[in-house]
Amino acid sequence: MPDVSVLRGHIVHAPVFGQLEIKENAYLVLENGRIAGIFDALPERYHGIDVTDYGSKIIMPSFCDMHLHAPQYPMLGMGMDLPLLEWLATYTFKTEARFSDNDYARKIYRALAQALIHHGTTRVVAFASLHREATLILMEEFENVGITGYVGKVNMDRNSAPLNEDTQDSIAQTLRWLDESARFKYIKPILTPRFTPSCSNELMEALGKIANERGLYVQSHLSENTSEIAWVKELHPDCQQYWESYEKYGLFKSHTVMAHCVHSDARERAAMKERNVLVAHCPDSNVNLISGVAPVRVLLNEGVWVALGSDIAGGADLSMMRVIAHAIRSSKFKRIETKWNDDFLTVAEAFYLGTSSAARYFGANPGFAVGDDFHAIVLDDSTLTDSDRLSVRERFERSFYLCDDRHITAVYSAGRKVV
Ligand SMILES: [Zn+2]
Repeated sequence: MPDVSVLRGHIVHAPVFGQLEIKENAYLVLENGRIAGIFDALPERYHGIDVTDYGSKIIMPSFCDMHLHAPQYPMLGMGMDLPLLEWLATYTFKTEARFSDNDYARKIYRALAQALIHHGTTRVVAFASLHREATLILMEEFENVGITGYVGKVNMDRNSAPLNEDTQDSIAQTLRWLDESARFKYIKPILTPRFTPSCSNELMEALGKIANERGLYVQSHLSENTSEIAWVKELHPDCQQYWESYEKYGLFKSHTVMAHCVHSDARERAAMKERNVLVAHCPDSNVNLISGVAPVRVLLNEGVWVALGSDIAGGADLSMMRVIAHAIRSSKFKRIETKWNDDFLTVAEAFYLGTSSAARYFGANPGFAVGDDFHAIVLDDSTLTDSDRLSVRERFERSFYLCDDRHITAVYSAGRKVV
């Protein structure tokens, strides 16, 4: 007999891009932590099973943060007075350098893991720092609170003072970390060359070899800022475009996560589509670091795979609800910038990017799909104005602007109730 549980409430999810499915006072049945179905009336075979009744609360898929820098959590909301390259050198590398101290790493990563799970982020693709031990601590803290996904030990052996690694040591530490990561059940390693300017050709070549020999995914940054793009051009005069500096080492492949892609032109976008690269769109960060506004509608129209990232601490909100709202706002800036040519993102579309589109990265289907691991939050907006008068759709739509961890009363991750 499977382990069956039944939840009841208003169920909202996005099985199709741009469309919400709303089931009021419906039942969601789990068998061994996997979704067995959503029903208006509970089928007879489940009668007699205790129902967790969430009343008028909203049950919706939890969020995927496809790009965040865990060691930048202490600088959340700070150092926002500089563009990318100066920001990295002035604030970020100094903050990350502190993670050579394992006790400090434990303290910060424990707090971050708690914050993420209480904000309903149950799946992540995250950067740690270059420190092998601190990276393992991050993986452990994520796993302990019920977060699933991928974490990368960062590789960076040039242009990154005070964080420069020795090339051979960077490779050796990476191999050791990969072996040590095998002990985690829910958190997997992902190769993480920081970005082209901070990785020598020798290091990139070694990482490409490891990625392909071991079938590992890769994450990095692409076309975030115009100075960065010019710098990559200087470093790789043989490459016509930024993405080719990853491509030539075998790092630009299916499921490679490329953060930002603010300035990707048609050729770069086509390369991403062809290779099934995932764009992690980080709207809050792109504004904070004065990078630009990513052409999300164009990316989507062209069939490029897009999901969302908080990019803390370039982004100052780790709440993916707020990141969804930022993505909508940012798409409206783009609409203004393109003289009303590019459509903005609707709530349903941005929600899809923050849940369903990203869930595919982890092997799941869009929305609450039968057979998938259950990842969900339960939203209680009863303290907000008029929540008893509004429709479920209206409550859902405003929640991205008004709600945060205070309104998330339960979180499920990989079939387990973790909050
Ligand atoms: Zn980043």
